[in-house]
Amino acid sequence: MKAFKHQNTKIIATVGPASKDFDTLLALAKAGVDVFRLNFSHGTHEDHQEVINHITRINDQHRMHIGILADLQGPKLRVGKILDNALALKEGDFVHFVNRECIGTKEAIYMSYPKFAKDVKPGERVLLDDGKLIFEVVETNEIDKVKLRVIFGGILSSNKGVNLPNTKVSLPCLTKKDLKDLDFILTQPVNWIALSFVRSPKDLKDLLKRIDAKNHPAKIIAKIEKPEAVKNIDEIIKNTNGIMIARGDLGIEVPIEQLPVIQKEIVRKCMQRARPVIVATQMMESMINSLTPSRAEVTDVANAVLDGADAVMLSGETSVGMHPVKVVEAMNRIIDEAEKNYQLMSFRPEPNKKSSTFLSDVVCFNAGRTAGEIGAKAIVGMTSSGYTAFKVSSFRPRTDICIFSDRMHMLATLNMVWGVRCFYYDKFTTTDETIQDVTDILKREGVVQPGDYVINTGSMPMHRRFMTNMLKVTLVE
Ligand code: PGA
Ligand code: MN
Repeated sequence: MKAFKHQNTKIIATVGPASKDFDTLLALAKAGVDVFRLNFSHGTHEDHQEVINHITRINDQHRMHIGILADLQGPKLRVGKILDNALALKEGDFVHFVNRECIGTKEAIYMSYPKFAKDVKPGERVLLDDGKLIFEVVETNEIDKVKLRVIFGGILSSNKGVNLPNTKVSLPCLTKKDLKDLDFILTQPVNWIALSFVRSPKDLKDLLKRIDAKNHPAKIIAKIEKPEAVKNIDEIIKNTNGIMIARGDLGIEVPIEQLPVIQKEIVRKCMQRARPVIVATQMMESMINSLTPSRAEVTDVANAVLDGADAVMLSGETSVGMHPVKVVEAMNRIIDEAEKNYQLMSFRPEPNKKSSTFLSDVVCFNAGRTAGEIGAKAIVGMTSSGYTAFKVSSFRPRTDICIFSDRMHMLATLNMVWGVRCFYYDKFTTTDETIQDVTDILKREGVVQPGDYVINTGSMPMHRRFMTNMLKVTLVE
């Protein structure tokens, strides 16, 4: 059972044609996947519905708390169809972008961004097909036609992605497609909703409003893949529940050599604010076809672990790759090895005096410290809001974090958080009784044995459901 998985860094696997059947999903869950990601850039609602049903069944049948992350495409820009699916372009060529659909030639290529001509300025860069081709804007009629010069050529084919690192894109973050996808997602037991190409907290507030309006308990993840998002990172972290460092598009939109330091800075800031942070894209890319990862990939995953990421994510490796289960097994081994040196090599935050939750934060911090000092086997927290889990985890204690909740949905949500192991418990009566009950559960699950110490955090009096205000040492009998 997942309670015994002892890695702290979580694994997120994207589901796709290579993994969407029940048996593969179960094998992935058993291999160590903590959260499945449904990528709404691909697949129909029926496809996603089927996967969600499978995951729900796996959780029920195997007493797991695998989370579901729904990833909205956001304002991803694309060119339209290209004549014969290939347009050869060389440096110095001129091309034109228009905002009506057509079969693309140098004279007119459709781009899925109606106000492109209005928003773009001469001199700005346009990157196509993951940055393989580079254009520069020469002039715009500010209505429907933009002339560009090819700076770096190649073959442009149909529907390739377009990135505009310098342009202030006026499109709303939630597109028509996203709103339709969101209508579906909000009828489902989804734990996390990720939004692509977030630029500012405003984008997130819009999403939150829609989730709240449906009274859905999903939490949100801001995908950091625009230069503006990197610039506004503090405000974005404040206004989101979690962050994804989406290195795919980010590596096109900012000079790619800046990725490693941006990653380290964002992970650290997220830890300080107790926001789970995901490192994503190309982590084990070569395993899409190969049975072993490259040296660079092994080192990349290990470094994300040592940076302190809550989760590492697989995309094509598990959605379309040849060896989805082997990738997860390999990733688990890399995480395991890296974590042996975690406490020595990784940054760990301390409570912030200026925080409005400072007192509770100190209790959560000292739960970890005391557990370490007395060699406790587990830190136990009760939660309905998730606060205790996010907070205790953010200090990256060296002791297992066991979180109990009477809300199944919350447990699957917390399954993405560093070091958190989830347990269902619904008899919150008195503090004494509850501590006895949860200790018994941990004993039954093999997490603790008689003679072990457990650190309990909680809130007294219990029925008031205050923020965490209690720390107790329990000897397991
Ligand atoms: P995507 O996001 O796979 O939805 O593009 C991740 C990334 O850009 O890295
Ligand atoms: Mn992306």
